[in-house]
Amino acid sequence: MSLNFNVETLIFTIVLGHLFSGILGIAYMTQHKKDSSLYIFLFARLFDTCAWILLGMRGMINTFISISIGNSFLIIAQVLQSTAFLSIKDRYSKVIKRRYFIVAAISIIVLHLALLLHDIAGVRVAIMSISGVILWFYPIYILLTDKNSSVLQKTVAFIYTAELLLLVVRSYMGFKLGESMQLMSDNIYNVSFYIFLYLIMLIGNIGFILIAKEKSDLELIKVATYDELTDIFTRREFLSQAKETIALCSRKGEPLSLFLIDVDNFKKINDAYGHFAGDQVLKEFAMLIKGQLRNHGLFGRFGGEEFTVLLPGTGEEAAFETAERLRKTIENASIDIGAGQIVTFTISIGMVTVTPDENTSIYTLYKLSDDAMYGAKRNGRNRVEIAKAEDSVS
Ligand code: GH3
Ligand code: MG
Ligand code: MG
Repeated sequence: MSLNFNVETLIFTIVLGHLFSGILGIAYMTQHKKDSSLYIFLFARLFDTCAWILLGMRGMINTFISISIGNSFLIIAQVLQSTAFLSIKDRYSKVIKRRYFIVAAISIIVLHLALLLHDIAGVRVAIMSISGVILWFYPIYILLTDKNSSVLQKTVAFIYTAELLLLVVRSYMGFKLGESMQLMSDNIYNVSFYIFLYLIMLIGNIGFILIAKEKSDLELIKVATYDELTDIFTRREFLSQAKETIALCSRKGEPLSLFLIDVDNFKKINDAYGHFAGDQVLKEFAMLIKGQLRNHGLFGRFGGEEFTVLLPGTGEEAAFETAERLRKTIENASIDIGAGQIVTFTISIGMVTVTPDENTSIYTLYKLSDDAMYGAKRNGRNRVEIAKAEDSVS
């Protein structure tokens, strides 16, 4: 039985596929220069393109060169592709690098031994397929089993699992069919293998670029959501979640309280111990407050040494108690900034409590708590002041 497909045409489309994936990848790289895994992936495509050109030129160039270099390039491309996937999953290490080097070297040596001693097309196909399975298995296994893998990563890994199975079948067919497994013979096994290989290559290449994009998107979202120094919400994230919390309390008819917390005389801490120590103090401060809030409410860094806490479902009395607890926690804390130096400090808190309606704005609440906070500063610092402007919150 034969199909109306010509192996040469299929190989040509594979070359083009690798080439265009490479071009797309390079275009993407212009905006993502730091992504080394993408860089490695592009090199894999380059080796694949050259490999398939060399293999496809059988008959036009020296057969030994075509087979020897073409297949060696395929092995190198596979190593690079596995490296790219492992590095995107942060699983690439020196040990892995050494193992890949050893497996690739053994594959190339065995291939050449077979070429010199036992030159049967099917045996070469089997050696290449087995080497492909060994080199490809680990990253696919990681993508499928890592609990942090995204749906996209698992889907791509699933497609590549099909390629692994295909390689297993192909190595069996290589041994079984022997000499009729020539690269260019239009037998059904060859033709179906190349069609599958083409599809898997296309989907896999698009998949990798999407995975790289997904990873950089997640990193951006993390940067936008969490403050780098204190690991609490950024101003942007705090405001966005505060708006939702206000809307929710408004629907439920529940009160809520906003605190604006400012570190007292923070400049003096910086001046006395240096900015690095100042940073340590801010970090420890955030940890202490987080510990006190125990996941209740929202806690964000509004800027510099100014922090906000929003407590939904909390009336004025309970909120004042909480604010006092936070103030005392900081007053009693001593922060070790290294070299035997201990820093103590205090905070001033301005708070406002409202039962919001649909017109209540976080900015108005912020303004009111800011006024109260400055009242606390004027009244001697290390204090909690309550805003008294219930009728102007909308
Ligand atoms: P007050 O009691 O009136 O609030 O006095 P203060 O010294 O805290 O007042 P001010 O707001 O004028 O000073 C805040 C200082 O905080 C100024 C700035 O250099 C410092 N600062 C802001 N952000 C950071 C930061 O991320 N790290 C460090 N180390 N210092 C910061
Ligand atoms: Mg201050
Ligand atoms: Mg300040």
